[in-house]
Amino acid sequence: MNFIVLTLFPEMIEQGIGTSITGRALAQGTIRLKTINIRDYSHDRYGHVDDYPYGGGAGMVMMAPPIYEAWESAVSGLPKKPRLIYVTPQGKVFNQAMAKELAQEDDLVILCGHYEGVDERVLEELKAEPVSIGDYVLTGGELPAMVMIDAISRMVPGVLSNEESGEEESFMNGLLEYPQYTRPDVFMGREVPEVLKSGHHANIARWRRDQSLLRTLNTRPELLNDVVLDKKDKIFLENVKTACNLADDMIN
Ligand code: SAM
Repeated sequence: MNFIVLTLFPEMIEQGIGTSITGRALAQGTIRLKTINIRDYSHDRYGHVDDYPYGGGAGMVMMAPPIYEAWESAVSGLPKKPRLIYVTPQGKVFNQAMAKELAQEDDLVILCGHYEGVDERVLEELKAEPVSIGDYVLTGGELPAMVMIDAISRMVPGVLSNEESGEEESFMNGLLEYPQYTRPDVFMGREVPEVLKSGHHANIARWRRDQSLLRTLNTRPELLNDVVLDKKDKIFLENVKTACNLADDMIN
């Protein structure tokens, strides 16, 4: 899969993605990364790419022409017009399902904003898809672009080794992942749950499923609305709720 990032800070993206698992995927050619410096498409000799907002107000706005020309350079020679994601706090919030879906693309262009954002007309002209990484405002789109590239790359076949398989991770089955343990067996008096050392695969699987349900119920209960629960899941959750109600009654 090819990622093309339109940015004012290409080195930030290259360093971030060039590290760890995504760095290995780049080296293996499982993913490719091309950064295009929007400043190279400035129309003046000072390299300006931003200007004052029409209507007044604080900050600067990234101008449309350099972004449009950076996009033209990005897509020239590609067999078909790729999707363009504009990372913005105003977008649809990125999640695992989107990462999986975007990993199907051969080419994906990501536009990173800066300052107060980007002239709306270039976003309309290029039919950019707005995507947010969460309800907070960052200085620029480079970190969001890196977050997306990392999460999408994990869904590209061959990026993760068998040992690193993403299949059992949080959100893949709609639930948060169960707790993980490794050696030593006892840490500060805390022991690894006995069942995980039992070698009994069915019991381990059940324990992990229950822990996933419990974690999700405790911290992200709204996720349970979209999960297909089997009979054992429902019984487990009913028991947890009954235990909680009993505890509440004892306190009150
Ligand atoms: N004035 C903009 C607004 O209120 O929506 C915020 C601009 S922000 C300071 C500068 C750039 O950072 C944005 O154009 C966008 O590319 C990026 N950015 C900031 N927060 C983001 C978020 N939560 N998700 C995705 N991109 C974000």
